[in-house]
Amino acid sequence: MSQGAAGNPTVAMVEAAFTHHGLNWRYINMEVAADDLAVAVAGARALGFRGFNLSLPHKVTVIPHLDGLGESAALMGAVNCVVRRDGRFIGENTDGKGFLKSLEAVIDPRGKNVVLFGAGGAARAIAVELALAGAGRIAVVNRSHERGSELAALLRDKTGAQSEFAVWKPRHVIPPDTDIVINGTSIGLYDEQAALDLDTDSLRPGMVVCDVVFNPVRTWLLREAEARGCRVLDGLGMLVNQGVIGVRYWTGIEPDAGVMSDALARAMGLV
Ligand code: NDP
Repeated sequence: MSQGAAGNPTVAMVEAAFTHHGLNWRYINMEVAADDLAVAVAGARALGFRGFNLSLPHKVTVIPHLDGLGESAALMGAVNCVVRRDGRFIGENTDGKGFLKSLEAVIDPRGKNVVLFGAGGAARAIAVELALAGAGRIAVVNRSHERGSELAALLRDKTGAQSEFAVWKPRHVIPPDTDIVINGTSIGLYDEQAALDLDTDSLRPGMVVCDVVFNPVRTWLLREAEARGCRVLDGLGMLVNQGVIGVRYWTGIEPDAGVMSDALARAMGLV
């Protein structure tokens, strides 16, 4: 259940998995007004939905209408994927899990030092999964003090991870002992010239630099990082992997990630 236009790339990606695996299932995009959320969830139950995704503004307000939450969704207090298990609607959050899956293909986050820009929905999901995966230290850098310090406190209090908050300063410097840098903000979305206010000389070879933004795929941050010898991870992998996890949760099969990735790239006009 999401707000937005029909025929979006996520629909193409999920339905490609259903087709590939011979499932006569549908994944449909519906716009639900905030006031209609309770009846929409009741409707999904009555209609026998195996689950659904949610986007803003429903990720938090859906929780009272569900029967339970997965571990990370409970910690971050946000749900983007609902799964029917034994007749109960359980809220999960697959954004951070999708990111982690992409990251693990490049680096094992256990014991690693992370600098995370942002403290919104995507950043929170990523931070909680990194903490649960045993990241060494998570430094949250955010423009607004309130959201940033709240996320660092959540990580310390609820996961036991080592985490601190730093207000985003002009030409922000990445500490040299950082292993993983993540843009978890919306800076760069639809604007390939949009720059993060950081000291690009503090991006060092060997760091893994990641962006949640997937449109454009090669953001300013990734181009700068690559030019300085960093390994880079774009936002498409996270998007594909959260889709893979959703399809697995709903259907019980392990979908072919390559099929989903190809369908997404085609729908986005990338190939
Ligand atoms: P939110 O609105 O919840 O959070 C936005 C974050 O960006 C906040 O930390 C905000 O800081 C920061 N921000 C925005 N503009 C600026 C700016 N000009 N300067 C400094 N900080 C800024 O958004 P989401 O977390 O839901 O989404 C963030 C991005 O992640 C989007 O581009 C979205 O497309 C992408 N995304 C990608 C996914 C994927 O699968 N690849 C999945 C989900 C999201 P502040 O707190 O100060 O306002």
